[in-house]
Amino acid sequence: MDKKQVSRPELPLHPATLPFRTTLLSGGGLLGRLLAWRASRTGLLVALYDAASRSGEDSAAWAAAGMITPSAEAVDADPEIVAMGRRSLNLWPRWLAELPEPVFYRDDGTLLLWHREDAGEARRFERLLARRDASAHLVHVDAARLTQMEPALDSRFQQSLYLPGEAQIDNRALLKTLALALEEAGVQCHWQTFVAADALPAAGIVVDCRGMGARQDLSQLRGVRGEIVRLDAPHVELRHMLRLLHPRFSVYVVPRAEGKLVVGATSIESDDRSPMSVRGALELLTSAYSILPALAEARILEFTTQLRPTLPDNRPAFFYHLGKTC
Ligand SMILES: Cc1cc2nc3c(=O)[nH]c(=O)nc-3n(C[C@H](O)[C@H](O)[C@H](O)COP(=O)(O)OP(=O)(O)OC[C@H]3O[C@@H](n4cnc5c(N)ncnc54)[C@H](O)[C@@H]3O)c2cc1C
Repeated sequence: MDKKQVSRPELPLHPATLPFRTTLLSGGGLLGRLLAWRASRTGLLVALYDAASRSGEDSAAWAAAGMITPSAEAVDADPEIVAMGRRSLNLWPRWLAELPEPVFYRDDGTLLLWHREDAGEARRFERLLARRDASAHLVHVDAARLTQMEPALDSRFQQSLYLPGEAQIDNRALLKTLALALEEAGVQCHWQTFVAADALPAAGIVVDCRGMGARQDLSQLRGVRGEIVRLDAPHVELRHMLRLLHPRFSVYVVPRAEGKLVVGATSIESDDRSPMSVRGALELLTSAYSILPALAEARILEFTTQLRPTLPDNRPAFFYHLGKTC
C-alpha cells in the first residue's frame, strides 16, 4: 500500500470514485464534522465516529478561540496558511448560512495594540506583514479614532494598527450546530465511540480526522499545548478582537456574545495536557489586564488546556493511501 502526501487539503469526494457507498469519518472535531457535513451535502452516505460526546468537548476545536485572523497571524505563519485563512473568510459566512441554526460570527476585524516601550514590536509587525501578506489591508489608527472604535480601551493607547474584516466564530456553537446538521442530513453519528486505526470498518473512503488521537499512527504528529481562559465580563463592551504586540506575551482578547470573553493562548512545545499552569494563567491574565484594566472585575469561567495537532512544518496536510480498501 502506497502512502502519499499532498499539500492541498482537498478530498476526492465524487460518488462515482467510490468502490463502496459509504464515506466513513473517524474523529468528529472541527475537521471531521465539517467534512462529514459537506460530503453528505454532495449526496454521499456518511458515517462519523467520535470518541467523545456530541458536544465535542474533547476536541481542540472545543478549546479554540475560533479566530480567523490570517493577517494578524501572518508574521508567524506560512504564507500558504495565510492564503487559506483569506479564503476561509469568504467561505465561512456562506457555510454558516447553510446551517440549521445561527452561529455567532463577527468580522469586525482585529485591533493590534502595544505598550509604549514596545513600539519596536509594531514596526516589526508592519515590516513582516508587508513581506508575508502583501494583500493585507493595514490601517493606522490614531488616539481619537481608537476611542471611537473601541471605547472600552478608555483612551489608554495613543495609536493602534487595525486589520478590518478579520473574523471570529463561536466554535462551541459551531460544533453543536454541525452535529444537528449531520443528524438532519442522515449522517450516522456514533458519539462516544473510540476507533482504533487498525479496526476501521470497510468503507468506500475512510478519512481519519482524529487530530491528536492519530498520534500513535502518525509519528510526525506532535501536540502544541495551548492554555486559554474564558471570562464573563458583561461590563466590558468590547467590539473588536484585540491583540497585544509584545516581545514575549502575544495575548489576544476575543469578545463573544453576552459579555463573554476568550483570552488566549499560550503556545508551548509539549504534549502535556495537564491543567493550566500558574505561569500560563498569570501571563494571559496579566497581559489582558494590561490592555483592559476593567477586566479586574471579570469572573473566570474556565481555564482550558488542549493540544493543537501539529505537523513538523506547522501546516495542514492531507495524507491518502492507494489500495483496494482504505
Ligand atoms: C487553545 C487553542 C486555541 C486555538 N485557537 C484557534 C483559533 O483561534 N483559530 C484557529 O483556526 N484554530 C485555533 N486552534 C486550533 C484548532 O482548534 C485546531 O486546528 C482544530 O481544532 C483541529 O481540528 P481537528 O478536527 O483536526 O482536531 P480536533 O478538533 O481535535 O478533533 C479531533 C477529534 O477526534 C476525536 N478522536 C480522537 N481520537 C479518536 C479515536 N481513537 N476514535 C474516535 N474519535 C477520536 C476527538 O474526540 C476529537 O473530537 C486552537 C487550538 C487550541 C488548543
